[in-house]
Amino acid sequence: MESLTIIQKIFLSLFTGLIGLAIGSFLNVVALRLLSKEDFVQGRSKCPKCEHLIAWYDNIPVISYILLGGKCRKCNERISIQYPVVEIITAVLFVVLVGTFGISLKTLFLIFLTCNLIVITITDIREKYIFDINSIPIIPIGLAYNFFNIGQNSAITVNIFGISFNDVFISAVIAAIAGAVFFEVFSRIGLLLAGEYAFGTGDSILAAALGAWFGWKLLIIILILSFISQIFVGVPAVVYSMHKDKDYKSIWAMGTLLFSMVFTFLGRYFTAKEEPFIALAMILLSFVIAGISIYFILKRARERQSYTFLPFGPSMVLGAFIVMFFGANFIGYFH
Ligand SMILES: [Zn+2]
Repeated sequence: MESLTIIQKIFLSLFTGLIGLAIGSFLNVVALRLLSKEDFVQGRSKCPKCEHLIAWYDNIPVISYILLGGKCRKCNERISIQYPVVEIITAVLFVVLVGTFGISLKTLFLIFLTCNLIVITITDIREKYIFDINSIPIIPIGLAYNFFNIGQNSAITVNIFGISFNDVFISAVIAAIAGAVFFEVFSRIGLLLAGEYAFGTGDSILAAALGAWFGWKLLIIILILSFISQIFVGVPAVVYSMHKDKDYKSIWAMGTLLFSMVFTFLGRYFTAKEEPFIALAMILLSFVIAGISIYFILKRARERQSYTFLPFGPSMVLGAFIVMFFGANFIGYFH
């Protein structure tokens, strides 16, 4: 990329962006036809309400949405904002991928992964469902990506039973298995505690797939990032559902759960002050308060038969994109 002039870079970015817009438009169609179980190879796009066939000039990414004012030309039904949003996000990701990794095999592989992750995000947000056709194929392709060291992340070769593998491939195999096991175990803990699976099978497959692409170190980073982003979206959503059910006791329990974090910080403060016993007492206290609060919230949720089920896939996808571009910064934590 360094060898290109500014003009060439601008042209390349524009070209990549236009391809991104067109493919983003296609990904919208793929996701929606998966959800409606339609055959997405055949048939032209039509308005979901009036079934009016959409003309090519009304099907131009982003531009048509703006020109039509977000409404169907025939029946004035609102067109989902999802269409232009997905198109723009796809275009931006394409431009950033080509800008970061150049015109390379690595970029091509990462574009394939990106397209699948976008469709997974759409279907998981809309119907809380990840289709196997999106998640399973990216496992072997991720393993192949690392087996042939396409990401050029491997430095060492390891010998196992006389066959040499690169270290990143071994890390990817471990991560694919560990990712699936982690979610299957957590899901069953949810079943034990709350009488409900905490995660869907789709989450296990997606974690395995991201492990296959990024290896175990970055998978840990993806999971940490996704749990953090889930808390930011999840806590307000859960409190809102408690408020709707007029379950003020649970809101109080949520408050004490957040309050327990104060003792965690106090614990850290006294650790720094080299007061180990006070520090330990504080951390224990925060665990007890948090434990009781969580137990109470789960018990009430079971009584109300109310579960705020948030899809976890989009959070993992967000984490995956962060490590895709900033992975090298995180790897340092493991040394
Ligand atoms: Zn219509």
